[in-house]
This record gives sequence, C-alpha cells and structure tokens, in this order.
Amino acid sequence: MDLASGVCTARAPRCEACPLAPLCASRGAVAVAEPRSRAAVPFPATTRWLRGRLVATVTAAPAGTWVPLPDRLGHHDARAIGLAAHGLEREGFLDLRAGEARVRA
Ligand code: SF4
Repeated sequence: MDLASGVCTARAPRCEACPLAPLCASRGAVAVAEPRSRAAVPFPATTRWLRGRLVATVTAAPAGTWVPLPDRLGHHDARAIGLAAHGLEREGFLDLRAGEARVRA
C-alpha cells in the first residue's frame, strides 16, 4: 500500500483507513483543502499562454527575421517574457540575441 498516494494525501487524508492512525499525532487534525478551481488563474496569466503568444509573434514575421521581444504581453512583464523566451531557446524553438528572437532554422 502506498500511503502517500492512496491514503495520506495532502488534500484529503483518509485517516479512517490508515494503518498508521493509532500512532499518528496528526490523525484527524489535518485540514482538508478545498479542491482548486481550474478557473483560479485566468489562462492569459499562465506561462503556457505567454509561450504561445511569443511563438505566434515570432512566427508571424518572415523566416529568419529577428523580432523584438515585447516589453509586455497581457499579464506578463519583460522579466516573465525573457524567462519564457529563454525556455523556448533551451528547447530549440527560438534563437535569442539582445532583446530579439527568431525561429530557429
Ligand atoms: S492517520 Fe496520519 S498518516 Fe494516516 S492518513 Fe491520517 S494524517 Fe495521514
């Protein structure tokens, strides 16, 4: 039995079914968290959205063209844009140079 994934989960521990219950100081005292709402973070605030917008921006230019990275995209500032761009570079999608990106050939 895998206690961590089947019985003592962070969101809903099942102390009544737990073989460690007689020894556990946390038995019954663990707060059960409300399930997270998928709508809690608007999609345009996610890194996934930002990466998609960056790829769309760069691929809209003719092949091989260096495109300036925007200072702001939706909810995201220049730092977040830079981090996302570096992630896309590491993954082989983009080439980067001072404030500009292009699709990797
Ligand atoms: S009794 Fe303790 S170990 Fe078992 S499920 Fe509850 S909190 Fe987790």
